[in-house]
Amino acid sequence: MEHAINTNQNTAKYDFAIIGGGIVGMATAYRLAQRHPNARLVVLEKESAVGLHQTGRNSGVLHSGIYYQPGSMKAKTCREGKLSMEAFCSEHSIAWNQCGKLIVAIDETEVPALDRIFQRGLANGVVCRKVDRLEMREIEPHAAGVAAIHVRETGIVDYVAVTNQLKKILHDRHQAVRLNTTFLKASVAKNEVQIETSSGLIQAGYLINCGGLYCDKIMQRCGSKPPVKIVPFRGEYYLIRPNAWGLCRGLIYPVPDPSFPFLGVHFTRMIDGGLECGPNAVLALGREAYDWKSIHVSETLATLCNPGFLRLAGKYWRTGASEVYRSLSKAAFVTALQRLVPDITAADLTPAPAGIRAQAVTADGKLVDDFLIVHQERMTHVLNAPSPAATASLEIGNAIVQSLPQGM
Ligand SMILES: Cc1cc2nc3c(=O)[nH]c(=O)nc-3n(C[C@H](O)[C@H](O)[C@H](O)COP(=O)(O)OP(=O)(O)OC[C@H]3O[C@@H](n4cnc5c(N)ncnc54)[C@H](O)[C@@H]3O)c2cc1C
Repeated sequence: MEHAINTNQNTAKYDFAIIGGGIVGMATAYRLAQRHPNARLVVLEKESAVGLHQTGRNSGVLHSGIYYQPGSMKAKTCREGKLSMEAFCSEHSIAWNQCGKLIVAIDETEVPALDRIFQRGLANGVVCRKVDRLEMREIEPHAAGVAAIHVRETGIVDYVAVTNQLKKILHDRHQAVRLNTTFLKASVAKNEVQIETSSGLIQAGYLINCGGLYCDKIMQRCGSKPPVKIVPFRGEYYLIRPNAWGLCRGLIYPVPDPSFPFLGVHFTRMIDGGLECGPNAVLALGREAYDWKSIHVSETLATLCNPGFLRLAGKYWRTGASEVYRSLSKAAFVTALQRLVPDITAADLTPAPAGIRAQAVTADGKLVDDFLIVHQERMTHVLNAPSPAATASLEIGNAIVQSLPQGM
């Protein structure tokens, strides 16, 4: 696909339109620009800057890929994506650091689950090893627990800095990143996609939906029924005061619950030197409702009427209730943290901005585990890109570009 021209004063024409200026959309645009240097592309972002939602509100971890089902898209793109991300950051002078991660079994009952993660890590080619209590203390002197996996290659980075760098590269290549531009709807007509936005009509040869928390809605507005629905789970964090930074050198994580791999508060060293802890996971009362005071009534009602969510909630209401309790009670949050690091106290914590995970749920109430990307005529929809999609973004972008039909 080659140069597109503006044939009409009101309708801009592009080869590719990408919805969403989060890290997945920007990485996809970057890979497209690499693969098709003569194509014209546009990123449509409704906010006044890129990376303001999931991308700008996450833990900033460069995941190793230890948790994911071997052979899954998550496992493959996380492993490859971590290397690509590290190389990208080094090339563009963005700070990153392999600070290492300890996954801790608090007591003997958690050791079999720890072993299963270790086997998964080996199957995925992760550089990791099991350590006993003594060695754990050498790595993280304040960590509790009886055994751990040490993943030396896990790192940290600032994903907003990466996303802004991607934007700069696109800009330098004369590609368009249109901020304050909301995608409204699209339809395929003849050999192109007609796209209505808040700032006018666009024509594109191909549309890629990387709309994060709104990806299912966007697919609907493209005239198709999404096979899954997004349920927004808010994760709340606390910053740790500088006097307690010595309690964690790198990353300290619990053994995850396989049904909810994203649950379990942890300690995260940040690339700016700070330390944070969290997140928990509660149902957000709106896709961008970042605290309990923000309520988007119609979005909340839609979630509460979603049969998939109701089935999920019916099965796991106890887990949900304890997460809500931890959200409302700082003392309960601190107790969860003290399982990992007993010396942490409530006085060490100050509230930090929350993030919201776009988790796809099926109609029969299952959390979609792997990344989910659906292709249609002249359109691709990224429908599930939760963690580790920031780590994996450059390779998710690659996979999307490689999967486009011949001639695109
Ligand atoms: C609490 C939390 C912790 C996490 N920790 C990590 C981690 O440590 N490591 C890791 O690898 N991953 C982590 N993740 C996951 C990671 O942040 C996401 O997988 C990744 O950011 C997804 O990027 P995205 O571009 O798909 O979505 P987003 O960053 O949400 O971007 C989507 C963009 O689409 C835009 N948009 C939506 N609708 C429209 C519309 N109609 N028109 C125009 N634009 C629109 C939005 O404004 C937004 O900018 C975490 C996520 C959360 C929430």
